[in-house]
Amino acid sequence: MGQLIDGKEVAARVRAEVKAEAALLRERWGLVPGLAVVRVGDDPASRTYVSSKKKAAAEVGFLSWEYALEADVSQEALLSLVHQLNEDAAVHGILVQLPLPGHLDTDAVLAAVRPEKDVDGFHPVNAGSLLLGRPGARPCTPLGILRLLEEIGCDPAGKRAVVVGRSNIVGKPMALMLLQRHATVTVCHSRSDLPSEVSRADILVVAVGVRELVKGDWVRPGAVVIDVGINRREDGGLVGDVEFARAAQRASFITPVPGGVGPMTVAMLLRNTLEAATRGAGASGTLTEPFPGAGRLAR
Ligand code: NDP
Repeated sequence: MGQLIDGKEVAARVRAEVKAEAALLRERWGLVPGLAVVRVGDDPASRTYVSSKKKAAAEVGFLSWEYALEADVSQEALLSLVHQLNEDAAVHGILVQLPLPGHLDTDAVLAAVRPEKDVDGFHPVNAGSLLLGRPGARPCTPLGILRLLEEIGCDPAGKRAVVVGRSNIVGKPMALMLLQRHATVTVCHSRSDLPSEVSRADILVVAVGVRELVKGDWVRPGAVVIDVGINRREDGGLVGDVEFARAAQRASFITPVPGGVGPMTVAMLLRNTLEAATRGAGASGTLTEPFPGAGRLAR
């Protein structure tokens, strides 16, 4: 039976680190990180995500603002808000909660956020920086997964990593980040032969959005299994993209759903916001004096 990777526990530790670093930032430079969250429409899931991000920001001593716009807001009005937040010196991080309603051009909105304030790591400049291996904000979910791997002592170097899903927010950046850490990476999608690819993975990351798509019997004995999927069960509970019970029998480590990757995403958003504030203070992303956990500031 594989060991559970407790994302809640690791996320709490990341939040405590961020809180301590934010306190030092305030003490030494009088700087309070500020996070602006923009939400459009009344999607209940988006509402929940935004309120948990705001709560988490407050808990680590950040300022945070929520902008809740009507579902029929125009592209111009939304862009104008983003421009206003770009110019606001108290705002170090801007997050536009996705998905946006269909009449809005998501790519244009994400590209309007100033790259230095793009704490989601979705701006084309930051995506390009990731591709080129240069510094820049990285997407929170894959960043959180790397931290989980670090926590269990799993160094991707030389390992076979299989990423199922090729979205811009999880699959693709995850693959690039694992490649950067010297894994041999395979990216799978809807046209892949999943059983055969999955069975070769030392590290398996699944981000598809199809309940229990990856069968436990496909998992290579001893693999580290990271399940990003969040799917709703009929009884209202959550279930991942991996058939958990059977996969857990073969894996060395496995993330549960819920309580695995999800809490890490929010924790890494806080870290990205802290780093954006630090860079905004003129410290070029690295601090002149070591903060607790400062090694992680230079990615
Ligand atoms: P997308 O819908 O953007 O992408 C899904 C990917 O899965 C696509 O690349 C698609 O392939 C692939 N796919 C779909 N069906 C299959 C199949 N039958 N076999 C193989 N591949 C398939 O999803 P996201 O990346 O945004 O999210 C994935 C999941 O992760 C969702 O459940 C989401 O809720 C969850 N999530 C969780 C987060 C967290 O913090 N825990 C954060 C973000 C997402 P193709 O490209 O060929 O269509």
